[in-house]
Amino acid sequence: MLRFLPVAFVLCAVLAAAAVAGTARGPAPPVVVTQAQAPAPVETTTTPLATTPAPAATTTQQARPAPKPAAPRPRQGRSRALGKPFRGRLAGGVPLPLESDDYVTWDPILRDSPNRVWRTYGTDRLVSLIQRIAREFAADHPEASRIVVGDLSLPRGGNFGRQYGGLGHGSHQNGLDVDVYYPREDGCECAPSRPAEVDQVLAQDLVDRFVATGATYVFVGPRLRLTGPRPVVQKLVHHDDHLHLRIPKPATR
Ligand SMILES: [Zn+2]
Repeated sequence: MLRFLPVAFVLCAVLAAAAVAGTARGPAPPVVVTQAQAPAPVETTTTPLATTPAPAATTTQQARPAPKPAAPRPRQGRSRALGKPFRGRLAGGVPLPLESDDYVTWDPILRDSPNRVWRTYGTDRLVSLIQRIAREFAADHPEASRIVVGDLSLPRGGNFGRQYGGLGHGSHQNGLDVDVYYPREDGCECAPSRPAEVDQVLAQDLVDRFVATGATYVFVGPRLRLTGPRPVVQKLVHHDDHLHLRIPKPATR
């Protein structure tokens, strides 16, 4: 019995260290634990398998392999934006992959890349649009850095306020909003810290591309020289380092 104590002590120390590491990045979001993200149940099959040898495979078993699960097929339009961007929810949202050849994601609270996945959920239409614009921007500006994408919505939408760090988001609640950081003059794939760092030519190009997709709004910073058709393009405080894109809510049948 005693010889197990050091093992138990080491295990506790490891678990305690893991708990500290888990809290060092701030409080866990209260509504972001989804089925897929929930901790895996404790493995219970190890002991029986170790003490009970598996029977040898028979000819019958080899002739009847277990069926393969069908690969999920992404379906356009499966997500639903419920309610309003500033008071709503997201059903069937999908995460934006954290990085590609054409973009990176950025965590505005940790100020690091990539973003945490629970901050990157949107409707599948929004996620597809971001990927397409990033691809087209990269093709037309091969010398430019990848675009830097910030927060979308939480996995099930809802309030994305100060409890998730920083100023929080007034909207970003139903999968139709995304923040995109302006390209920087120095090519850093990170958020600009002041307007002088923004490459305004490339930033204007991004604004124009989003307007051309039929955006509902593109909010831009008042200290920049970015323009566009009103009322789609509007200047808004706290947008001197990123633009905020809102896409239309599809008509429901
Ligand atoms: Zn925003």
